[in-house]
Amino acid sequence: MRISNRKRILITGGAGFLGSHLCERLLAEGNDVLCLDNFYSGTRDNVAHLLGHPHFELMRHDVTFPLYVEVDEIYNLACPASPVHYQRDPVQTTKTNVHGAINMLGLAKRTKAKIFQASTSEVYGDPELHPQPESYWGRVNPIGIRSCYDEGKRCAETLFFDYQRQHQVKIKVARIFNTYGPRMHPGDGRVVSNFIVQALRGEDLTIYGDGSQTRSFCFVDDLIEGLVRLMSSGDEVTGPINLGNPKEFTIRQLAETALRLVGGQSKLVYKPLPSDDPRQRQPDISLAKAVLNWQPQVQLEQGLDKTIDYFRRLLQA
Ligand code: NAD
Ligand code: UDP
Ligand code: UDP
Repeated sequence: MRISNRKRILITGGAGFLGSHLCERLLAEGNDVLCLDNFYSGTRDNVAHLLGHPHFELMRHDVTFPLYVEVDEIYNLACPASPVHYQRDPVQTTKTNVHGAINMLGLAKRTKAKIFQASTSEVYGDPELHPQPESYWGRVNPIGIRSCYDEGKRCAETLFFDYQRQHQVKIKVARIFNTYGPRMHPGDGRVVSNFIVQALRGEDLTIYGDGSQTRSFCFVDDLIEGLVRLMSSGDEVTGPINLGNPKEFTIRQLAETALRLVGGQSKLVYKPLPSDDPRQRQPDISLAKAVLNWQPQVQLEQGLDKTIDYFRRLLQA
């Protein structure tokens, strides 16, 4: 018998960058949070400050194995997000996306929990359409070095919509665009963490290719607000729904901005472009604006300042 009215929320990948911010947010709203992680790319340090909280529980578990717990909501975030991490063990990346989705959907089906999937702008691949609306089917290489992630996430979306159609599972699918902020892993190779850490160490900033490729960067607080709004929307809102910041920058502009904000003597150096690196990426967030009344509030320089503070403290520790 339940003796509490608190919502019991499972967050897979909860010790990662986005997951740890989501744990904080959902605890602050008075929920019971079960944070599950296999620590492949996340760390206990990201949630160490929550360990004493009476409504927080941390569990080491790999989502590719079945999980039997009783919950009301599931946020499925488990999956390494940076190319360096997800390409280190690509077979495990596909397993995490596909077997992990099956297990979490099976759990949602049995417990009748609502389930959120952290999908990605990578489902659009190297897009021919710009900016990318949710109706665009994408241009993904099925056999390249990014495929374990891109195709794994696409298959997970398929599973979510089939569990909805076949088993009436309540689903929420967000396609998340590049997000940054405190608790990114300093060594995960993503562009924002790389440039800030390089600038703080006085090392050269490594631009891959000529730096004319574009990305749109969303600060983590804005993104978490979007996830929570999507989860609390009506059952008819399933997504997929784009969440990201539509303001687009070239990678060279990002390097110049990061360097100016950090200060120091670093130079910009040019390295080969990895294969299948998308040329441009910018979300069309009309749907999120209309349905969730959501749009990012934090400007790039503001968000970068907070991220720089975090890495400065981390590198000094
Ligand atoms: P992250 O690597 O910091 O977090 C992922 C977490 O999942 C880590 O703590 C990792 O240890 C855990 N994990 C990996 N495999 C697991 C497994 N088999 N079982 C249990 N835990 C496992 O990455 P993030 O940036 O926080 O991303 C979170 C989610 O959001 C991912 O699903 C990612 O694909 C998605 N996403 C992130 C971004 C972004 O820009 N940050 C963009 C699009 C999508
Ligand atoms: N599963 C789980 N926890 C549950 C229920 C199911 O981990 O509480 C897993 C189980 O391993 C199963 C998968 O989810 O393989 C899919 O479950 P579903 O009921 O859809 O399929 P079935 O059990 O019929 O294969
Ligand atoms: N990038 C770069 N220098 C770095 C790391 C990344 O120029 O040190 C580029 C990368 O080639 C890509 C963009 O920055 O064009 C974003 O890379 P990231 O790995 O952060 O994300 P994704 O490619 O998945 O969007």
